[in-house]
Amino acid sequence: MSDEDYDVIIIGTGAGGGTLARHLAPSGRRILLLERGDWLPREPQNWSAQDVFVDSRYISPDTWYDAKGKTFQPQVHYFVGGATKLYGAALYRLRREDFGELHHHDGLSPAWPISYDEMEPYYTLAEQLYAVHGARGEDPTEPSSSAPYPHPALSHEPRIQQLSDDLAAAGYHPFHAPCGVMLDESNVPYSTCVRCGFCDGFPCPLHAKSDAEVHGVRPALTHPNVTLLTNATVVRLDTNPAGTAVTDVVVDLEDERVTFTADVVVMSCGAANTAKLLLASANDRHPNGLANGSDQVGRNYMFHNSQAVLALSHEPNPTVFQKTLGINDFYFGTEDFEYPMGNIQMVGKSTEEMYRGEKPIETKLAPTRVLSDIASHAVDFWLSTEDLPRPDNRVTLEADGNVKLSYQTGNKAASDRLYHQLKSMLGHLGLHPDHLIPRHAYLKSAIPVAGVAHQAGTCRFGTDPAASVLDTDCRTHEVDNLYAVDTSFFPSIGAVNPALTAMANALRVGDHLLDRLGTA
Ligand SMILES: Cc1cc2nc3c(=O)[nH]c(=O)nc-3n(C[C@H](O)[C@H](O)[C@H](O)COP(=O)(O)OP(=O)(O)OC[C@H]3O[C@@H](n4cnc5c(N)ncnc54)[C@H](O)[C@@H]3O)c2cc1C
Ligand code: SF4
Repeated sequence: MSDEDYDVIIIGTGAGGGTLARHLAPSGRRILLLERGDWLPREPQNWSAQDVFVDSRYISPDTWYDAKGKTFQPQVHYFVGGATKLYGAALYRLRREDFGELHHHDGLSPAWPISYDEMEPYYTLAEQLYAVHGARGEDPTEPSSSAPYPHPALSHEPRIQQLSDDLAAAGYHPFHAPCGVMLDESNVPYSTCVRCGFCDGFPCPLHAKSDAEVHGVRPALTHPNVTLLTNATVVRLDTNPAGTAVTDVVVDLEDERVTFTADVVVMSCGAANTAKLLLASANDRHPNGLANGSDQVGRNYMFHNSQAVLALSHEPNPTVFQKTLGINDFYFGTEDFEYPMGNIQMVGKSTEEMYRGEKPIETKLAPTRVLSDIASHAVDFWLSTEDLPRPDNRVTLEADGNVKLSYQTGNKAASDRLYHQLKSMLGHLGLHPDHLIPRHAYLKSAIPVAGVAHQAGTCRFGTDPAASVLDTDCRTHEVDNLYAVDTSFFPSIGAVNPALTAMANALRVGDHLLDRLGTA
């Protein structure tokens, strides 16, 4: 295969790369998408809890090392659409305050170099492109918005409506969670989404989930100027002799090593793999890794301090699609805990099959209750606490070139507090007050460091080239034609799910690139 030249090369097709591709496609510029994975197969196993949760069918093979040099299998999904193929499609905006400096129990969450108001129009556009359902005005922490949600909130099923009513009666502010599924409850026979119980953590064979394949890559590919190569792993970026511009994008394509060139190169490999690519591209001008004069590449890795927990309802919980409710009353703290605690939301309804091998459930509940009984009464929550950026929580490369992820959990006091806050409320919510059991299935692994679903940081953006990797346009400070639009740019992660922010930012950077290419 001969070398080929493009206007823009985008590496990775997930939330950042897929969204950017769609935004740039109408420009007519020659765009090449390089994706290391393949199309995720549409097959019966997509909706099998055994295949997805127990046998990890869609976790892509990769080997990373922890701080002690022990190998582990990270929870990564190398497919067209990236991690969004499996995501829960909870599409939250960061809070306005998350863009400023916030004092946490364990330290400072730094300010972003841009304000919420600069991001707001792109959040609105991202919500439209990804067909988000929601209701404004219910969540007191919600930032201002220039448009309503494009689709009405998903209705709660009866047990979740009851939970919402009980929360409201206890003085809290439950809200309809923002959700990207193409469900039309006003016209069910014509709805693309069928509101099944296999959404959060599963792929959708109906293409009814608002993922980056469906709303990013596929619309982009309707333009003849956009090309996608799958099974194309970018292994290195080479620069001109001065080290100021990427000249060659070196790719393992099936069994061949090939090179592509472009005026602009955009990395969107996911936070860890974008850092890996930069570190693997060290050269004479960039001896510590490409664009790494600041020694910031790979540092400040964050992934939320998350807990998946199961409570037991006194009444059965026959809910099918459970992820319709959120609570942010503790996001910024409470009177007796002045620091931010985070967000509580529902996760997909657990089933008996998912519990197999989950020791906490087997030891704490199974001796007295059968698993099917636990499943029929389970109410499943997801608790997210902000994980603060720490320079030593970082991606480096092992001698074999694989990712080494050194990570120590932080902000634990806030995360424990959030857990106990929820536990203290159970008795008022028709839930058994003694049980709030940790779940590992949603984290896909009992090894915390492997749960990389919400990975971010590693190439934070900022105005100071000594303290950041990217400038405010997400261009590397040191290499003029090199950008990143995945979650690696996050200087802090907030406590809500990250994907909508990656999508919105990709649109923001996309506008900058359209200007740069003279096609705005
Ligand atoms: C089970 C699960 C549930 C989640 N639920 C939610 C949710 O409800 N809400 C939410 O906001 N977020 C959720 N997330 C997180 C969300 O999916 C991610 O934050 C988001 O996808 C990150 O986007 P990204 O562009 O940074 O990376 P990704 O979407 O991971 O995309 C990276 C892409 O780059 C490709 N790639 C990597 N290296 C290379 C290379 N060298 N060459 C070529 N291609 C490469 C990968 O194959 C992948 O396609 C969830 C994630 C998981 C796994
Ligand atoms: S709930 Fe809807 S979007 Fe989710 S997997 Fe089922 S059909 Fe697909």
